[in-house]
Amino acid sequence: MRIKERIASSCAKIKSDPSGITLLCVTKGRTLGEINEALEAGLFHLGENRVQEAREKYRQLPSADWQMVGHLQLNKVKDALKIFSLIHSVDSVKLAVEIDKQASRMNKVQDILLEVKTSFEETKYGLAPDALAPAVEEIFKLGSLKIKGLMTIPPASGGQIEARRCFSLLRRLRDETDPSWLLSMGMSDDFQIAIEEGADIIRLGRAVFS
Ligand SMILES: *Cc1c(COP(=O)(O)O)cnc(C)c1O
Repeated sequence: MRIKERIASSCAKIKSDPSGITLLCVTKGRTLGEINEALEAGLFHLGENRVQEAREKYRQLPSADWQMVGHLQLNKVKDALKIFSLIHSVDSVKLAVEIDKQASRMNKVQDILLEVKTSFEETKYGLAPDALAPAVEEIFKLGSLKIKGLMTIPPASGGQIEARRCFSLLRRLRDETDPSWLLSMGMSDDFQIAIEEGADIIRLGRAVFS
């Protein structure tokens, strides 16, 4: 697979092991037929950005590993917890509190990533970099979720230099907070840069399906 070669070449640049990179295949808008092809090609971790769409696909393919990458509304949390092994997009303490409340009712511990807004775009979701430490302090008190790392989305039109700046900032924030945390960063147009900047999980849609 061409993507595997590109992952390997970026890993070689920073002398890291490609087996340490998780490829999350983002299946939003894709048909079950397309998703089945991806599964047959050996992909296993699937990302969705809407609970409703994910719920239908999960019903058809319950044995794949589904992860949430899109903004999660408070009233969708309960459904989300039934589907996703990892929620990448926890962008407020309020959302974390709701996840904790629902997870505790279901007797589960939900793995999450905190989404950080590393760019200056107005519209993006995510915690501001200087809101991260106080948010982590609050979220650490919650017993039914576990922070596994950080996620970011660079501006769509920012170009590669801006993407690298965003990824490098996310890594610095991670190193300052908990060096064992994972970094979810890099999409089809910039995943090689993300790997060079230390990504553990890359989230690819178009690169897989086109
Ligand atoms: C759609 C999406 C992706 C995948 O985007 P591509 O550019 O198709 O690789 C990754 N992350 C999030 C949060 C997304 O919404």
